[in-house]
Amino acid sequence: MLQRSSPVHPRIALASLFVVLAVVMVATGVSAQAFRDYKDLKPSDIVQVETDLLGAYVRTILPQCGDRAAALEAVLYMVSERDMIALGMDRYFPLDQIEGITASDAVDDSLARGFFAISRAYAAAAGPASYADTTGALNLFHRRIEESPGVGGIPVPFSTFAAIRFGRDALAAARASGRNEAAADDAFLRYVGEITRRYMDARTTLRKRHQAEVRNEDWVLARLRCAECGAQDWDAGALFMKIKKGTSNYHHTRDLTCRKCGSVLTWDYLLPSYTIMNQLGTARLPGEPPDSTAPADSGPGTERQAE
Ligand SMILES: [Zn+2]
Repeated sequence: MLQRSSPVHPRIALASLFVVLAVVMVATGVSAQAFRDYKDLKPSDIVQVETDLLGAYVRTILPQCGDRAAALEAVLYMVSERDMIALGMDRYFPLDQIEGITASDAVDDSLARGFFAISRAYAAAAGPASYADTTGALNLFHRRIEESPGVGGIPVPFSTFAAIRFGRDALAAARASGRNEAAADDAFLRYVGEITRRYMDARTTLRKRHQAEVRNEDWVLARLRCAECGAQDWDAGALFMKIKKGTSNYHHTRDLTCRKCGSVLTWDYLLPSYTIMNQLGTARLPGEPPDSTAPADSGPGTERQAE
């Protein structure tokens, strides 16, 4: 865990970081990524400042995103930004530990929404795909994309960002061929649009959001490394539903046992949408469309009160 050694107040550090990054963003274009120093910040502060900045960036750039070059630059900028965020976060909250994974997923959720807005603005202005593949660059891009692991039925933040970065690399390969870039650029932006539309579609109702949150548990566990020995081989044990004492927050809780060294980690995974369902006594928010998916997972275990 991070040891806080400096007397700097987190709010001051947060405000300074925000100002520095905002200045970097508005100064002479947005091509250069700024390294993040998250010293003295909590994961929730990092998530707040980065999602605020990403949201501000998307709102600023969106009116220009009907233009192919502008939309492409915006997506590529955000991919690079996310890599800098991850690098900075990993120093203080390792991305193979619960806190870092949770914060990183929250940032990736904001990114997915930003990518969706940009690619939708592009597609609305560009209309149907209109670039003929006269030189083979588009074919090269599509061949690479076919090798992508994809995002599955319920895209989670981590896999959604990974798919977009995969697409960026496929585009770089197509561009490096020196052939018709416009067709490949257009295909990449539509690919980003399709991936993120699926991400958004999987979250249109409270019940779907809950299912997506449950789906993401597997993806947290897949990244989690034993802090004692470094192994990524867990016996997940029995799953319980838990309400934290003094709150109405529902969690899935498990005792994870490292198969290599035997150390045990109690993992509490917050279920925000399930918590809302229980607070409101409904699985559907007012105005939400009915969905025909399976009933929400009420957890295979019994509810238990914790500490
Ligand atoms: Zn271990």
